[in-house]
Amino acid sequence: MQEGATDAQTETVIDRLVEMGFTVHRSTGVRHTVLGGVGPQDDFDPAALEVMDGVKECHRIVSPYKLASRSFRPGGTVIKIGGVEIGGPKIVSMAGPCSVEDTRQIELAADIVASAGAQVIRGGAFKPRSSPYSFQGLGESGLEILRVAANRRGLLVISEVMDQTQIPLLVQYSDILQVGARNMQNFNLLRELGKLRKPVLLKRGIAATIEELLLSAEYVMSGGNYEVMLCERGIRTFETSTRNTMDIAAMPVLHRLTHLPVIADPSHGTGRREYVVPMALASVAAGADGLLVEVHHDPDRALSDGAQTLRPDQFTGMMQQVRLVAAAVGRTA
Ligand code: PEP
Ligand code: MN
Repeated sequence: MQEGATDAQTETVIDRLVEMGFTVHRSTGVRHTVLGGVGPQDDFDPAALEVMDGVKECHRIVSPYKLASRSFRPGGTVIKIGGVEIGGPKIVSMAGPCSVEDTRQIELAADIVASAGAQVIRGGAFKPRSSPYSFQGLGESGLEILRVAANRRGLLVISEVMDQTQIPLLVQYSDILQVGARNMQNFNLLRELGKLRKPVLLKRGIAATIEELLLSAEYVMSGGNYEVMLCERGIRTFETSTRNTMDIAAMPVLHRLTHLPVIADPSHGTGRREYVVPMALASVAAGADGLLVEVHHDPDRALSDGAQTLRPDQFTGMMQQVRLVAAAVGRTA
């Protein structure tokens, strides 16, 4: 309560808290009265209390998400897919082109990815492009191409699901379902993914706070699907020298707030090939459990995101450096 708040104002706030289901603990100081509300209610709006007469400020001490919260599983979550563990001591690398273009391109990409020691091949078959006139992806045939190339080399597949109607196809062909930045708050899609028992990689929205990302993860988890990994892929800021601003601090912040594995995507995080490797290394140093990186046999001719896509030699070099940084922070890659 504000300094000088009247007893009547304090009583009104207490009555309101009790009405909302809280047990109220009152501490009357020389200057300030502090009211502590304890109760099951966690979807209240602190601002609604802050505007009451005599109130100075109102803070929520418990997080608005529960299942995604670190306290739900203090030891952390390890997602096991085949022989790959995401969230364990070994850093998992997922790589491939932005979009699936044709069979040859994916076969070449799968060779690069597998021989450099990555575990998962990526590639969008359904592409969320900013322009409706840009290449929109190959759809099911793209997924089939990925699956065949992955199976031949013992890789896993990650690919993006853009809406509910695509879920059955993605479940059939992909090991991990990627939710893109533009869909982070597509709550209908998140609820449907909650009904699956299949890993989901949830990307941070371009203007989403970490709390909003965790609330989106909570949507999936509240349906019973606990196999969620979070992905930092850069956020939009006033800076224009990179496509997005890669939030490296998201790695330690997320590890403090949640038990879910955290993946870094320095490709979308920077938008330029030359910045991808340093930011991948920084992400690993900052605690990322995995990397999601774009690589193409001929990135200058890629149908999407060529500027941020690594050449094969750059990717192989990155993987070698990732192993060194991983070792420096007590992990393997
Ligand atoms: C992608 O991974 O190619 C992609 C579209 O990513 P984002 O949703 O992060 O933009
Ligand atoms: Mn892309």
